[in-house]
Amino acid sequence: MAHFDSSGIRKVFDLAAKMKSPINLSIGQPDFPVPPTVKQAAIDAIHADKNGYSQTQGIGPLREKLLAQTQATFGHADRDLFITSGTSGGLVLAMLALANPGDEVIVFDPFFVMYPSLVKLTGAVLKPIDTYPDFHIDVNKVRDAITPRTKAILFNSPANPTGVSATAAEVRDLAELAAEKNIALVSDEIYRAFQYDEPFVSPAKFNPQTIVIDGFSKGYGMTGWRLGYAHGPTAVIQEMAKLQQYTFVCAPQPFQWAGAAALDVDMTPHINDYRKKRDRLVAGIGDLYELATPGGAFYAFPKAPWGTATEFVAKAIENELLIIPGGIFSARDTHFRISYAAPDAVIDRGIEVLRRLAKR
Ligand code: PMP
Repeated sequence: MAHFDSSGIRKVFDLAAKMKSPINLSIGQPDFPVPPTVKQAAIDAIHADKNGYSQTQGIGPLREKLLAQTQATFGHADRDLFITSGTSGGLVLAMLALANPGDEVIVFDPFFVMYPSLVKLTGAVLKPIDTYPDFHIDVNKVRDAITPRTKAILFNSPANPTGVSATAAEVRDLAELAAEKNIALVSDEIYRAFQYDEPFVSPAKFNPQTIVIDGFSKGYGMTGWRLGYAHGPTAVIQEMAKLQQYTFVCAPQPFQWAGAAALDVDMTPHINDYRKKRDRLVAGIGDLYELATPGGAFYAFPKAPWGTATEFVAKAIENELLIIPGGIFSARDTHFRISYAAPDAVIDRGIEVLRRLAKR
C-alpha cells in the first residue's frame, strides 16, 4: 500500500467541502437523477425481499436482457456476459484475471485515474502511450510499444479525462492490431451513451476477442448503486466470474432489478442536454484555450494558458472554481479537466472565471 497515493480527485472534493459557494466543475458523475421508474424498481425489489445474494453472474432478467442486446449488436458465436459491481469491479476482475506480474499493459496517456493503480495491483508494468495534443490514437505508436511481454491494452472511448472520442478508423485499427498480435483488448465503454457527433463504435465490432467493460453509473446517474457488466469471449468471462465469487460475490441485488427496469428507459433527452452543455463550454472558452474537441463523455481537457496545470488550478481554486489538474491523469502537468456535468448556471460561472484567468 505504500506504493499507492490516494486519488488526487478526492483531495479536490475535500477542498470543495470547505468552500461556501464553489463552482464545482470537478465531478465525474451526471447531475441528473435516476429516472423515477428505476428508483421505484429498486424500492419494489427491496420491499419484495430481494435483498440477498444473487448468483455471481447476476439475476436472470438483467443478464438475459443485456446478453440479448449484446448478441443483437455483435452476433459473435462466442460472447458471454455477467453482472459486475460497477464498471470498476469489472475492470478489477479483468486485469486480475488477465495480467501476471511482469506482464506489460498498454494504456493511453491521459488515462482514467484508476488504470495505473489497477495495473500496479496485478504486478504488471504500465506502458503509457502519449496521445497529446489531440488525444487521438496513433496505432503505429501502439505497434511500436508492443513487446513479447505485452498482455493487454486498456482502451477507453469516449475518454475520461479528455472527452475525446476515438474515430471509427482508430477503433478498427486498434482492434485489428490487438487481434493480429493476440493481445487482450479491454474496452472501457462506461461513456458509450454520451457520444455526441458520431455513432458509438466498439472495438468488439472488429475484434470478437475484445473484453468490454460497461456499466449503469453514468448513463442512468446511479454511480452509488454499483452496477456494471462485462462481456467477452467465454473463457475470459468465466475466469472473471470465478474471481468475482471470491471478491465482490455479486452486484447489489435490488439494484440489479432496477438495472433491468433502466434498460426500458430512454435517456436520450439527458444526452441531448449534455451535448448542449458540451457546446456551451466549448463556445465559452474555445477562443481563449487550446482545446481538443470533446466528442463525448462530459469532460473537456484544455491546456493551461500559463504556468503548470497545478499552478493554474491553484489560481482557479482561489477563485472558487474547482477543476482537476491533468497531472493526476498523465505524466504531463500541462492541462486540466473540466467536468460539465453541472447545471448551466454553474457552467456559465465557470466560463466567466476561466475567461478572466486566461491571461495572467
Ligand atoms: N471507467 C471510467 C473511464 C470512468 O470514468 C469511471 C468513473 N469515473 C469508471 C470506469 C468507473 O465507473 P463505475 O462507477 O461504474 O465503477
